[in-house]
Formats: sequence, structure tokens, C-alpha cells
Amino acid sequence: MKDYSILLYYCYAQIENPEQYREEHHLLCLNLNLRGRIIIASEGLNGTVSGLREDCEKYMAAVKADPRFAKTDFKIDYSDKHAFAKLHVRHKPEIVHSSLRNIDPNKRTGIHLEPEEFRKMKDQDDVVILDVRSDYEFSVGRFKNAVTLPIENFRDFPAKVDELKEKYKDKKILTYCTGGIKCEKASAFLLEQGFENVYQLHGGIIKYGQEAEGADFEGKCYVFDNRLTVDVNKVNPSIISKCYVCATPSDRMVNCANPTCNIHVAICESCGDKMQGACSVECKTNPEVRPYDGSGYYQKESNGYNPFKGLKREKVKN
Ligand SMILES: [Zn+2]
Ligand SMILES: [Zn+2]
Repeated sequence: MKDYSILLYYCYAQIENPEQYREEHHLLCLNLNLRGRIIIASEGLNGTVSGLREDCEKYMAAVKADPRFAKTDFKIDYSDKHAFAKLHVRHKPEIVHSSLRNIDPNKRTGIHLEPEEFRKMKDQDDVVILDVRSDYEFSVGRFKNAVTLPIENFRDFPAKVDELKEKYKDKKILTYCTGGIKCEKASAFLLEQGFENVYQLHGGIIKYGQEAEGADFEGKCYVFDNRLTVDVNKVNPSIISKCYVCATPSDRMVNCANPTCNIHVAICESCGDKMQGACSVECKTNPEVRPYDGSGYYQKESNGYNPFKGLKREKVKN
């Protein structure tokens, strides 16, 4: 039995004083020994954390007990260890940087499809499956026949919609992303732009893997924790990405060991060993090169923020 849970979740809900709520939420996470990344904004919360199963249960109960977040849908995975080295709870203007700040998915968004509904609908003739994630994410895995966009960041999505309009305006659009959060605004934006039949995969690829066995998802799903990718497809799995160094099929996503390069690509195990985690000979011989531990994952520098600074620890425990 795996002792740890890894949670992925979001909730669009109005938070009156997000900075104050950030403090409160940070302490909740610290007291439960959670690690991961959480973003608090006036439009809601978005997080991915890991912790002991019982602590994650307490956390989910605490979040859902707040009426604002009662409808939060948690995607739960299990692991034998933490998936993060640290805890960051940040206040930002949006829970996903989108340049669509004015859109409120609670007012209008694409129709939510549960994984089984999505599976049944995705191969119909008048359907276009639209991946709203970034290039490094779909490069390692995506739905068969999905339309992908050459974007490095979700904030570049709106600029691509004109092209989509020309080609697919009269089709049924099925959007998907990792856990569903980007689709809330992406599908709302498509509706705003005049698309009429817009649907979104509720719970994203992660929930689709858990509830619909991941059928026709090719490759692996990129995730934002130290696993980097997870398996999704239990029915007809495949590998769609190639090793950046030797071009053999590989879905081992790594960051180049040279911190200045840091390119995020697939590098096979044998090239990883040979190149000590670097993407090129040039990067391998860079004086700044980071020690390769076989994972290709390097901890980001922390900003050193600790809410216990200036606070009495005993006070927090009560
Ligand atoms: Zn290779
Ligand atoms: Zn490199």
C-alpha cells in the first residue's frame, strides 16, 4: 500500500481577501505537512500537493467544508513518497495565467463531459478534439487526432483562436487539459468568440485515465510534480515522443542539466547516462552543469518565504 496521496484540484470561486486567505491556507497546509504548489486568487484556488494519505483526507475535508470550495473536484493519485520537495502557497492575479481575467467560468463555460461521455463522443464525425495545453506537454502525450497549438504558455491561447475559427467554427469542439482547469476559461473564450458547440473534459486527462482507462490517449501525461509524466492509457498505450539526443522512442521527460539551457525534452535512459543529463556536448561541458541523479529533475530555488517567520510556532499549533 502506498502511503502518500498526490492531489490535483481547482475551484473557481470568489475570494474576497485573497492575501489574507493565502495566509490561512498556507498554515492549513503546513499543519498537515503537505508539499506542493497552490495559487490563491480573487477568482479561486488551484493546487497540486502531496502528503500522507490521512493528511490529504483532512485537507480535502477542510477545503470542501468551506462553502466557497464545496464543489472542488479532487483528482487523487497514490505514491510511496512526496511528489514535491517544498510547499509554496502564492497569491496571484489569476489561478492560471491566461490573459482572460475577465472571464468567469461560473457564469458561462463549455459543457462538462465526464470521462465516459468524452470517450464516446470524441470519435464522432463532426467533433474536433482540442488540446489547450502547451507544446512541451502535448509533445510527450495527447489524444489521438487531437488538434494541438504551437504555444509555450496558456496565455498565448486566445491569439490562436482566430485560426481555429476559420477551420472549425461549425464543429463540436471538445477541449481537454491536464486536470480541467484551463478548459474552464478556454471553452468559455471559444463560446465568447462565436463557437456554438463547446464541451470540456471534466477532470482532464488525469480523471480520464482513472475513469475511462485512458483509451486513445497516446504517450504520457505531463504533470507538474517530480514524477514529470504519468501513465494514462491502460487500453492501447504507445510512445509518441523521441529522445532528443538519439531519436529512439522515449517518453522520459527531463530538464537539461545545464541550468542556462534547461530545455525540457525527452532523453532516453542510456543517453541520460552518457550525457550526464545534458542535451548536447556543449551543455555537458558547461561549467555550471548540475549533478545528474538519473531523474533529470532539478529543484527550483526557493524564494525563502516562511510564514512562521515572526510567528510563534506554538500559537500556530493551537
Ligand atoms: Zn537517446
Ligand atoms: Zn542543454
